[in-house]
Amino acid sequence: MIKKVAVIGAGTMGNGIAHVFAQHGFETVLVDVSEEQLKKAIATVDKNLERMVAKGTLTAEQKATTLQHISTATQLSACANCDLVVEAATENTEIKLSIFKQLDELCKPETILASNTSSISITKIGAATKRPQQVIGMHFMNPVPVMKLVEVIKGYATSEDCLKQIMDCSRTLSKIPVEVNDYPGFVANRVLMPMINEAIETLHEGVAGVSEIDTVMKLGMAHPMGPLQLADFIGLDVCLAILRVLHEGFGNPKYAPCPLLVNMVTAGYLGAKTGEGFYKYTPGSKDLVVSDRFKT
Ligand code: NAD
Repeated sequence: MIKKVAVIGAGTMGNGIAHVFAQHGFETVLVDVSEEQLKKAIATVDKNLERMVAKGTLTAEQKATTLQHISTATQLSACANCDLVVEAATENTEIKLSIFKQLDELCKPETILASNTSSISITKIGAATKRPQQVIGMHFMNPVPVMKLVEVIKGYATSEDCLKQIMDCSRTLSKIPVEVNDYPGFVANRVLMPMINEAIETLHEGVAGVSEIDTVMKLGMAHPMGPLQLADFIGLDVCLAILRVLHEGFGNPKYAPCPLLVNMVTAGYLGAKTGEGFYKYTPGSKDLVVSDRFKT
């Protein structure tokens, strides 16, 4: 029975995952190496809950209870007595393997260890532990409190019991889980990332500008957001990391990341989270302004 949950990583995804678990009554501890990220994450959860209260989808009392369900910590030892750990740290294989090895030592034998990874092999993460049957992918979508899907990834050694518990748990969170097998990029990013990469190539080759590319995909394909805006929203570093996993995993040059994406990440232009990517972001403003670098 899953009652107490830990979420590792308090970045773009971690705050949303903690929000959703806490809102559905789970005692939730949010863990990050950075105290500053934890403070920012709690402020974001507070702001998002307030928005729900303003819309009438949550009462002020439910907001207060949700916040009471979340605690924070900077040490992984805070996960020791949890029934489920959802890791949402930086998309880097070394970081994730190190976290899972430590969790395997720290946690109760029955604890399920899940990763929110966008693309890293669940089988590989499981193999770094002595409990691969209890290691699974629980891939939430951004923004977590809004998006209904959880892509549930069954590693080669994941047990049917673990799969069932995570499918049921996702439904308890009012999400719709979809079971997929463990191959690079799973389903969501295997289909999405080549489109984002192609949009960046299209920009890089000068076929069209940022707003033109996004407008074609929004109005032409009825996408709610263009691929360049979506890339900024996901984080360009995350997009690059996923493309590298696809490229390496399939050994197919069609997944090679566009050099413009590589340059932007190297220079620290990571999208909304750093204030600039293909667009420029001003706190408090909802206007979509193309970055000066791409002004035509
Ligand atoms: P992010 O860069 O916004 O946040 C990562 C957080 O992890 C940071 O706060 C960092 O301090 C923390 N961290 C790094 N090493 C740590 C460690 N050893 N212990 C504890 N915390 C640590 O990243 P994100 O966009 O939230 O992505 C997190 C995970 O979710 C990645 O695996 C990513 O692929 C996946 N994901 C991202 C999106 C998206 O839209 N951004 C969507 C689905 C899944």
